Amino acid sequence: MELAGRRVTVMGLGRHGGGVAAARWLAERGAIVTVTDLADERTLSDSIAELAGVSIAAWHLAGHRDADFTEADLVVVNPAVRPDNRFVAAAHAANVPTTLEIELFLGCCRGRVIGVTGSNGKSTTAAMIAEILAADGRRNWFGGNIGRSLLADLDAITAADWVVLELSSFQLARLSRGVRWPEMAVVTNCTANHLDWHGSMEAYASAKQRLLLEQSACGVAVLNGGDPIVRSWHQLARGQVLMVDGDNDVPELKLPGEHNRRNAACAAAAARRAGCSPDAIRRGLESFRGLPHRLELVAEIDGRRFYNDSMATTPESVMAAVDTFANKPWLLVGGHDKGFDFAPLAAKLARQARGVACYGAVRERMMTMIEDQPAPRCRCESFVELADALQWCWLQSRAEEVIVLSPACASYDQFRDYRHRGETFAILARALAQRGAPAR
Ligand code: ADP
Repeated sequence: MELAGRRVTVMGLGRHGGGVAAARWLAERGAIVTVTDLADERTLSDSIAELAGVSIAAWHLAGHRDADFTEADLVVVNPAVRPDNRFVAAAHAANVPTTLEIELFLGCCRGRVIGVTGSNGKSTTAAMIAEILAADGRRNWFGGNIGRSLLADLDAITAADWVVLELSSFQLARLSRGVRWPEMAVVTNCTANHLDWHGSMEAYASAKQRLLLEQSACGVAVLNGGDPIVRSWHQLARGQVLMVDGDNDVPELKLPGEHNRRNAACAAAAARRAGCSPDAIRRGLESFRGLPHRLELVAEIDGRRFYNDSMATTPESVMAAVDTFANKPWLLVGGHDKGFDFAPLAAKLARQARGVACYGAVRERMMTMIEDQPAPRCRCESFVELADALQWCWLQSRAEEVIVLSPACASYDQFRDYRHRGETFAILARALAQRGAPAR
């Protein structure tokens, strides 16, 4: 679509970069851009500041206006906007096309795209692929749902470059059929998540499956064979399937956890298919230091290690954290309750954790579920504040033990986002050192 002079509404500026990048890219192409968001100017101040100097025709914040949807030439929808949103429905009723930031990107991208999805491990696996490509001397670009829009890089991306995109279920549910879908699809796993948005597990799985279904016959699907659901998707693939079984080829990693070895095995399979040498795969994986907020070692005080796993917002990611450590860990679990079934997690925590400090909005439900587990079970206590939860773990912990923030919940009951939560934890943990070792 020719954009110059067209009225384009960016719905959902947000704070993760996609809205800002879309608004800037559209304005630079001469579109008449209206930015609208339910949040107000104060909440969005960082994103608004990033657009300083960009020619935005209208700012309609703290609410949407019908005309921005019914009288536009195009609406760019933030992927988190729910499928039943009445403004999006109004645009469709008025025959106004809708799109996504990632769709604008795919529509213009000349590079060879590897799309990575899954319920857990998308970002880590995608980052590992990018690291291996770099180790093999291949120019590559890494972005997507991770919070890094590549729209501004479009002109620099050549047909010889690789592009690694982390893709969420929201993006995959909305991407149109006509776009050039990634030639390589990597799926790490599929467990229940975001069911309030998708409506059912079937709809959630269908969104992820589109990464396979919409590929061309030349496409390649890299599937984690260790996940029974993803394993069963091999018959959906349009092109070649690489089923990843085991992690024998994976060298020793800097990252802890068996789950990361499996992520690495998927990354290695994708990179091998992209033509990377075995040596580059080994070097790329060995040098990969992990992403912040994913089992990130943030402090070591008096023999205790503190891990920030703030990105663990599903029960499965917390279970992976519990399995990571040789000694039983102390865990901080809590935040906004997304309505997950916590039964398997509570059973595992009761058996395999030293103690669990439940905090934030979910604390009573989580604590009751752990206390309902048969004895012997871990210690468990409930706190309103993360700081008090951490203090409790610290006071009871011994040398050689680990204390892990792995919340299993969303952050926005008490924090701006998972980064703010993780940074707060790291600051609190480091501050403990100044106060000295707990008396015992
Ligand atoms: P995503 O992008 O899918 O959210 P990340 O790589 O950002 O995944 O990791 C998010 C959380 O999930 C972290 O706590 C991480 O330790 C955990 N995790 C990563 N890979 C897996 C996996 N394969 N299975 C379970 N949990 C995982």
